[in-house]
Amino acid sequence: MTVTRFAPSPTGYLHVGNLRTALMNWLIARAAGGEFILRLDDTDPERSKPEFADAIKQDLEWLGLEWDRVETQSARLDRYADAADKLRAAGRFYEAFETPTELDLKRKKQMNMGKPPVYDRAALALSEEERAALRAERNGHWRFKLDHERIEWTDGILGDISIDASSVSDPVLIRGDGQVLYTIASVVDDTDMGITNVVRGSDHVTNTATQIQIMAALGHSAPAFAHHSLLTGPQGEALSKRLGTLALRDLREAGVEPLALLSHMARLGSSDPFEMRMSHAELIAGFDISRFGAAPTKFDREDLGPLTAKYLSTLSLEDVAEDVAAAGVPEALRERFWGAVRENIQTRADIAPWWTFFAKGATPLVDEEDRDFIVQAFSILPEGPWDETTWKSWTDAVKEASGRKGRGLFMPLRKAVTGRERGPEMADVMALLQVRPSI
Ligand code: GLU
Repeated sequence: MTVTRFAPSPTGYLHVGNLRTALMNWLIARAAGGEFILRLDDTDPERSKPEFADAIKQDLEWLGLEWDRVETQSARLDRYADAADKLRAAGRFYEAFETPTELDLKRKKQMNMGKPPVYDRAALALSEEERAALRAERNGHWRFKLDHERIEWTDGILGDISIDASSVSDPVLIRGDGQVLYTIASVVDDTDMGITNVVRGSDHVTNTATQIQIMAALGHSAPAFAHHSLLTGPQGEALSKRLGTLALRDLREAGVEPLALLSHMARLGSSDPFEMRMSHAELIAGFDISRFGAAPTKFDREDLGPLTAKYLSTLSLEDVAEDVAAAGVPEALRERFWGAVRENIQTRADIAPWWTFFAKGATPLVDEEDRDFIVQAFSILPEGPWDETTWKSWTDAVKEASGRKGRGLFMPLRKAVTGRERGPEMADVMALLQVRPSI
């Protein structure tokens, strides 16, 4: 069975970059009728917060990316300790004592000599006495000893990858303070939970290489990996610093529609054109990870407004029944109301103000030179209630009386009745308007 996971750290709010990962993993699981696990990578006790875990769940619920179960790394520390013991027994785990400052110095020296900043394995050369002396002074951290060979896999997005393990530092898996790090926790979880496919950002490619070796050292084969490109801003600028301003909860607050956002993210960076998906089933059916490319993907927050408006314009009254009822639209007028406003809203929050206008009228927008014309036109508007024929008969009469025609006739009337330059068909406006416009 296909099993995927989305593994955020509950140290902040989800943003559009995380969404790309969540969505791809969710789509793969759902397309295969498999399982999708929400895994909370909370091995950092200082930065992980229950409120962020709750917020992650709320955001995924808002998007309809439901999970089959939640796993929490902090509840699995004994499993990681077991794995560490196994690696130790296999001679693949060694204790090292360099401080961050010492490591930094080593890296700088290497770079000055034009060498890649790879950990020099000095700790492997320590004698038992030296180790004991260092241990008395400070806590050691634990590194996985990579086999210096090429690590290869066929990536679902990047294609054939081959990394020379000697160009990578032996990863630290357990810190001096005993904190288990993501690299080993993730490996243990992925194998324990039978994860078959891992999609994550291309910033994890080197992790993947080391994790493939750790999995093998623990006697497991690796899942299928795919690394999506990182998002950039519209000009290609790095988005990493601005991702905080692209939190999913802020987009929700701004009225972005989940399916508009998901449809966008399901195609962004792929060779297929955007298609608006009206349901999660359509999203699943239209997804093909092999269509995504390795090049950085531009993301523009500004795209989400028009996409939301476009999505809303295609909804039926049934889809927005709650919003229309909450706006106070009388039942008999709802169908006409929605037909009139659906193409004139940016977000759902615009629905209620439209009914306020129909129910109470607007402050007329009248240019000075049109004032007399509007006074005259309003005086020959018949008594209400009006219907869809009113606009035609009224404007015919106004044309007759004023001699105006075309834009000079219709535009001032629209502005005077609705208080704005654009909006629904005026035939609908007159049929929905509950109060007599006046100036
Ligand atoms: N917690 C990791 C992250 O958010 C998970 C990466 C992975 O999918 O393995 O980057």
